[in-house]
Amino acid sequence: MRHRIAVIGAGPAGLTFARVLHRHGHSVAVFERDPAPDARPPGGTLDLHEKLGQLALSKAGLLAEFQALSRPEGQAMRILDADGSVLRDWQPRPDDHANPEIDRGQLRDLLLGSLDVQWGRGVTEVVPGVPGGVLVRFADGRQETFDLVVGADGAWSRVRPAVSSVTPHYTGVTFVETSLDDVDTRHPDLARLIGDGSMAVYGVNRGLVAQRNSGGHVKVYAQFRAPLDWHANPDRRADTDADFGADFGADTGTGQDAGPDPAGAEAVRARLLALFEGWAAPVLDLLRRGAAFVQRPLYVLPVSHTWAHVRGVTLLGDAAHLMPPLGLGANLAMLEGAELAESVAAPGSGDLDEVVRAFEEQMWARAGRWAKMTTAGLERLVSPDPAEAVALFDEVHAS
Ligand SMILES: Cc1cc2nc3c(=O)[nH]c(=O)nc-3n(C[C@H](O)[C@H](O)[C@H](O)COP(=O)(O)OP(=O)(O)OC[C@H]3O[C@@H](n4cnc5c(N)ncnc54)[C@H](O)[C@@H]3O)c2cc1C
Repeated sequence: MRHRIAVIGAGPAGLTFARVLHRHGHSVAVFERDPAPDARPPGGTLDLHEKLGQLALSKAGLLAEFQALSRPEGQAMRILDADGSVLRDWQPRPDDHANPEIDRGQLRDLLLGSLDVQWGRGVTEVVPGVPGGVLVRFADGRQETFDLVVGADGAWSRVRPAVSSVTPHYTGVTFVETSLDDVDTRHPDLARLIGDGSMAVYGVNRGLVAQRNSGGHVKVYAQFRAPLDWHANPDRRADTDADFGADFGADTGTGQDAGPDPAGAEAVRARLLALFEGWAAPVLDLLRRGAAFVQRPLYVLPVSHTWAHVRGVTLLGDAAHLMPPLGLGANLAMLEGAELAESVAAPGSGDLDEVVRAFEEQMWARAGRWAKMTTAGLERLVSPDPAEAVALFDEVHAS
């Protein structure tokens, strides 16, 4: 008998789960809160690891398309001192496909393919143990029951309360994101500074990272320790946002829509420039020329978040194990989606709930290890001793 399966959230976890299930001939209902795929800016670039995100794409039959789209040259990494001198400059070998970069929007479109996602179907609540299975309630007032509901709805999951009372907590570290467009033509000096991939500068309890996306777009992240009330306008942090970002528009000088609050953007820029005062002028130009600011206080779930198994409900990705953004979250989310789908679709897989229970054990063990490593990694990247950040990269490159 075919199971009625729903996945909540069309992020990397939910889409990979749905794609792999489809590949095995199973249907799944995908519900997404956003009204359309391009309703929000998709975010920055992701590096997909050979044994994690790329493995998931291969299970979805999408590896060749990924290889055509991704940017192996984006693996280049340069570290500067706050005075602008180059401390490290790693260039990938031409045949290095360990962690190529892909824009989030490209990855989403690749995973979407011809999947039938129900857009604008935000979930408000999931109630297990009702007659007929698990009840899903939607913001539009509708409700449906399923045999299995998979919560892939990110950090502020509405599915999570059905299995766990735990909520994310603030790490004490904040990212403020800004971006530059057409960097090669409009900011050639900064294009040279950044190189083909990423550039990072670390200081005492702060850092500045610039990452190339495709098409000459660069995302810049100011990273620093700050109390939550650093955020000038905390009531603008929409808790409906997957990663809790608050947007501050800026006068971009291009005549494009500058967003709702250019004055807020200038205030954020001034505070950042004060925070990084004394750093080399070209590095600070990344902040001076940035177009708009998104504040991202980093939240995490406890390192070994598990729950007592609940019949008919499970979680994937950030909903299950939100961790510091050190290049693992989307990778794990995708691999989990692919593995759960394969387990559910395996011929003779037996009782659906036993399959899910076994998957959870495997997910918890692996995610717990990475959560420990990324938590320790964040402490070293945003550390009183900037040499710790450089040492962390040395270790990663040596491994
Ligand atoms: C600045 C930054 C940089 C990062 N860089 C990397 C990186 O380089 N590599 C990497 O692997 N990871 C990276 N991450 C982490 C990565 O973004 C996440 O771990 C990943 O997106 C998690 O995928 P997900 O599918 O679990 O959740 P999400 O990507 O958050 O997707 C959840 C989806 O569910 C939808 N949704 C939410 N609530 C509801 C609801 N109630 N009803 C219906 N739908 C809902 C959302 O709209 C969204 O589409 C980074 C994170 C940040 C903040």
